[in-house]
Amino acid sequence: MLTDLESEGKADWANQISDQLYRRFESNPHGDITRWHSALKQLPVLHNVDADMNSAAITLSTEGGLSDQQRADLETGLRGLMPWRKGPFSFFGLDIDTEWRSDWKWDRVAPYLSDLEGRRILDVGCGSGYHCWRMAGAGARQVIGVDPGLLFLMQFFSVKDYLNAPHVHMLPCRLEDLPPALNYFDTTFSMGVLYHRRSPLDHLLELRDTLKDGGELVLETLVVDGPEGYSLMPEDRYGMMRNVWFLPSCDTLMRWLERTGFRNARVVDVTATSTEEQRSTDWMRFQSLEDFLDPIDPTKTVEGYPGPLRATIVAEK
Ligand code: SAH
Repeated sequence: MLTDLESEGKADWANQISDQLYRRFESNPHGDITRWHSALKQLPVLHNVDADMNSAAITLSTEGGLSDQQRADLETGLRGLMPWRKGPFSFFGLDIDTEWRSDWKWDRVAPYLSDLEGRRILDVGCGSGYHCWRMAGAGARQVIGVDPGLLFLMQFFSVKDYLNAPHVHMLPCRLEDLPPALNYFDTTFSMGVLYHRRSPLDHLLELRDTLKDGGELVLETLVVDGPEGYSLMPEDRYGMMRNVWFLPSCDTLMRWLERTGFRNARVVDVTATSTEEQRSTDWMRFQSLEDFLDPIDPTKTVEGYPGPLRATIVAEK
């Protein structure tokens, strides 16, 4: 990846990535990293792995299947990377039912995108990388996912290590850690991130800077009903989530996009998140959406705010 960036005239970025990775892993290692590494190492080594990235579950398979020992090691390794939040995946017949049906989000977004064939794509807040694989499946030339969550990075490698996919990468960093004014990507996705940013307008400006002129932004975020100008800032938690700052109305969001230099912004989908889309599973055993909604009036969060409603917006730089 780094040589790729260098040959594209992005040598500064490549150097910066090396420094950032060093700082992330060598000088300040995460407490669980050793455990996650052993989980990854437990996964059986298999050759000639095929991948289907165009179905609901990212599906890995190998001719001849696995021995009983390999199957047991596979399950132990993947269990060691719990909780699995974004997916689903299917590893050689072992299905990982994740907290989120991330494929439903993809199905809502995909019909409205410019053809991804041959494009360079950035996926900001990519989680386990589930959507990165769907983007690769749609023919992207290069996909780079960024997400600061290290367990997500390990889950990404549990797939990537089986594949020959030199064009799909994930960096354990935040969008703000990328160099300013990259002007590099044909499509940038930001799904499920904007409401986590204390400064949503800076997030939009940073997203714009990642794109080439004419590039496409795909933004998915929580919204609320309301007039232009309105946005909800929760007093503290929203649906038990900390770190939720602004939930704008769709009209407010359109204004934000115009003011931050995007053209032709359009809302292509608005969908309420259901307890079928986000729920506890055998692979994510903590509480989930059902526990975050008011048991008497499930159209509201436990804090009394409107329940989660998500909008997808496509716009151009
Ligand atoms: N995009 C996926 C995951 C959304 S969850 C989806 O839509 O299904 C939101 C993710 O954003 C989390 O994994 C979190 O770690 C990441 N995130 C939060 N702040 C971020 C930032 N500033 N830059 C990049 N990723 C961020």
